Amino acid sequence: MPYLVLVATRYRVFPVHVASVTSLTPHFVRVTLTGDALADFSSVGLDQRIKIVLPLPGIGFSELPEDDDWYGAWRALPDEARNPLRTYTVRSFRPDARELDIDFVAHGDAGPASRWVSACRVGDELRIVGPMVPSSPAELPTGAAEFAPGHANRILLAGDETAAPAICAILEALDVTTVGHVFIEVPTDADRLPVRAPAGVEVRWIARNGATHGVRMTDQVHVWASTVAAAPGSGAAPACGDAVELADVDVDEQVLWDVPAPVESRPVYAWIAGEAGCVKELRRHLVRGVGMDRKQVAFMGYWRHGKAEH
Ligand SMILES: Cc1cc2nc3c(=O)[nH]c(=O)nc-3n(C[C@H](O)[C@H](O)[C@H](O)COP(=O)(O)OP(=O)(O)OC[C@H]3O[C@@H](n4cnc5c(N)ncnc54)[C@H](O)[C@@H]3O)c2cc1C
Repeated sequence: MPYLVLVATRYRVFPVHVASVTSLTPHFVRVTLTGDALADFSSVGLDQRIKIVLPLPGIGFSELPEDDDWYGAWRALPDEARNPLRTYTVRSFRPDARELDIDFVAHGDAGPASRWVSACRVGDELRIVGPMVPSSPAELPTGAAEFAPGHANRILLAGDETAAPAICAILEALDVTTVGHVFIEVPTDADRLPVRAPAGVEVRWIARNGATHGVRMTDQVHVWASTVAAAPGSGAAPACGDAVELADVDVDEQVLWDVPAPVESRPVYAWIAGEAGCVKELRRHLVRGVGMDRKQVAFMGYWRHGKAEH
């Protein structure tokens, strides 16, 4: 009997340029990218992540390899010729128009991505790295999205402003019957974004307004954990929570990426993303303190105060 050998999705460098720049709020800028190459881009929606490749002063993208082994060739380049890569979420993709939106947090001039977005203009060139449309049924149409609640009865989505684009994209894709809570911490009251969500999902935008990053969102998740996660039938086992083995992650040296494999059935599913110190604290509290099973929670602590993305 013939059988199919599945192969990984292919990734490539897509040359694109800026079609529009929209200031959404004081700290969010939407950049719409376009280009003929996007005819081959494969979108899986939800929290799909891509890499953006930033131009180098005086060089642009002239040294950037664009063939199949672009990554190996990119790594072999001397430092001064290696374009910076950063990770962003596909906020939305319109294949017919070949347009892709990214919502950038404008956080000043400290990093190449934030610097680029504060100065970018219509027509500016960029490169993105993402999955290609499968060319055969043997290719898995996967593309770096992590949200996988299975048949959970309740969900939690929590994150800071860098996670807001992913949370909004997930909310807009949820089944109308979904029930749950969403906590999104943003710099100020004026940074709340309009988003569509199922009636049973309570979306709370939490303005930091000068408070320490992550504290207000962490407080909300603690309250959620003491009610929803600790309730009978949630799948958490508070009595043995302290005994749960949990290797700590040194978030100053490593990315905290603890994401369960998709499973069909679990009563509560949580997805938590943002600044690594804050996500680390929440992981410790939910797994060790409340006794949540790590198969119920995706923890993604990917940026760190004072550290550029590796
Ligand atoms: C899966 C995934 C999806 C992401 N999606 C998005 C997205 O859709 N939109 C988005 O804006 N970001 C997103 N991020 C976060 C983004 O990749 C980081 O914020 C990245 O560090 C920005 O790069 P940079 O070049 O501006 O700064 P870097 O060069 O990486 O860092 C320079 C300095 O800026 C600080 N810094 C970095 N980000 C911030 C911030 N947000 N606020 C304050 N200080 C900061 C660093 O601590 C460092 O001190 C995502 C990250 C991951 C892993």
